[in-house]
Amino acid sequence: MYNRRVAIIGAGAAGCFAAQRLFDLSPHVRVEIFEAQDRPLRKLAVTGGGRCNLTNSFQTVADLREVYPRGHQLMKRLMYSWNQWDTMSWFEERGVRLVIQEDECVFPQSQNAMEIVGVLRRGLNIRCGCRVGLEELDGYDAVIVATGGSRNFSWLEPVGVEIEPPVPSLYPFRLETSGLEQLSGALVEECVASLAGTSYRAHGTALITHNGLSGPCILRLSSYAARYLAEHSYTASLVMNWLGDVCEEGAKDLLQALASNNGQKLVCNTHPDAITSRHWEFLLSRAGVSSDMRWNAIGRKQYNKLVSVLTSDCYQIIGRVPHKEEFVTAGGVSLRSVNPSTLECRQRPGLYFAGEVLDVDGVTGGFNLQAAWTMGDAVARAVASRLGK
Ligand SMILES: Cc1cc2nc3c(=O)[nH]c(=O)nc-3n(C[C@H](O)[C@H](O)[C@H](O)COP(=O)(O)OP(=O)(O)OC[C@H]3O[C@@H](n4cnc5c(N)ncnc54)[C@H](O)[C@@H]3O)c2cc1C
Repeated sequence: MYNRRVAIIGAGAAGCFAAQRLFDLSPHVRVEIFEAQDRPLRKLAVTGGGRCNLTNSFQTVADLREVYPRGHQLMKRLMYSWNQWDTMSWFEERGVRLVIQEDECVFPQSQNAMEIVGVLRRGLNIRCGCRVGLEELDGYDAVIVATGGSRNFSWLEPVGVEIEPPVPSLYPFRLETSGLEQLSGALVEECVASLAGTSYRAHGTALITHNGLSGPCILRLSSYAARYLAEHSYTASLVMNWLGDVCEEGAKDLLQALASNNGQKLVCNTHPDAITSRHWEFLLSRAGVSSDMRWNAIGRKQYNKLVSVLTSDCYQIIGRVPHKEEFVTAGGVSLRSVNPSTLECRQRPGLYFAGEVLDVDGVTGGFNLQAAWTMGDAVARAVASRLGK
């Protein structure tokens, strides 16, 4: 017999997971979920290109700051209670077989996001097509807001929570035409991208596109610098180190080794291992080195130019490209407005926030969904203890 009622606004990843965890912890509590759209978990169904990258092993994450540009401290605290291994066990206990890819991203073995959707919605009481506000939920013992990233937080104004202005995160850059676009489709593994005059810097694979750059390295940079780029109308100088962490001195040594081993050969035929031949030809022309030149004919000035093009190649960002694959909002309900252990609203006891509605967001790789699971668990535990198990 239910004697307590909890309302959840939003049947997304965080809302549905909070409901599932509440059921695990307090089966006597009646949970009602209100969803504005015609079916629950619509976004989850298209995550990871329909495959759902539901978490990450975190094996290559040295510091949570790298993967949660906003909210890393909160995530560190909450992940003591619910981390990636808890997520994996929870889904596996419900029959989902998981695979950890080489890049540490975790997917269902079925490669089908609908399997995750099916597990998450199992047994839940969800009212679809029901956009609700807080004023409609007066009679509930607790209310969990899990409405996801949004441009509009005016409906939360009466509560008095602080809002960090929402800005997009995780998008490719549109670049001023430079000829790079002729290499569209090429991947450059392990490069470092940074914004000139700032400390924003990201590493990883970059993908050259028909109008700029994308790929994990660029999406990370867009996430780290989300607020800066929004304030600068998505214009900035992008500096690419195509050799990754190799510094100028390292690049000089590398070129000298190539020159001394290949003195008589054409420069266009011998290139650093990390650079493909098409990309190398482009970089040679950028450095003003003719491709029919031989290594032993390159002068000091051209060497220096080549070193600079390899390690600090400058492009002008002239806009952002809306990213169909993944798009996350930075900003939302300020973490100053919630208790960091329970995610309960400081201004209104009994009201909780979970998921992207809070000012927490991650880079690509399963970190955003892990945040939804971790926060969903945190609010469920807090509500269960409030209502008595
Ligand atoms: C295309 C795409 C692919 C992605 N792929 C990945 C991935 O592979 N891995 C990863 O970690 N992250 C991925 N993300 C990010 C991830 O999906 C989100 O971070 C995550 O869904 C956030 O969960 P949430 O529950 O906070 O919000 P949402 O999933 O957005 O859910 C919020 C729900 O609340 C409902 N709602 C809003 N307002 C109201 C209201 N007033 N009343 C009732 N209902 C309301 C909305 O309709 C929505 O269903 C992807 C995002 C996109 C867009």
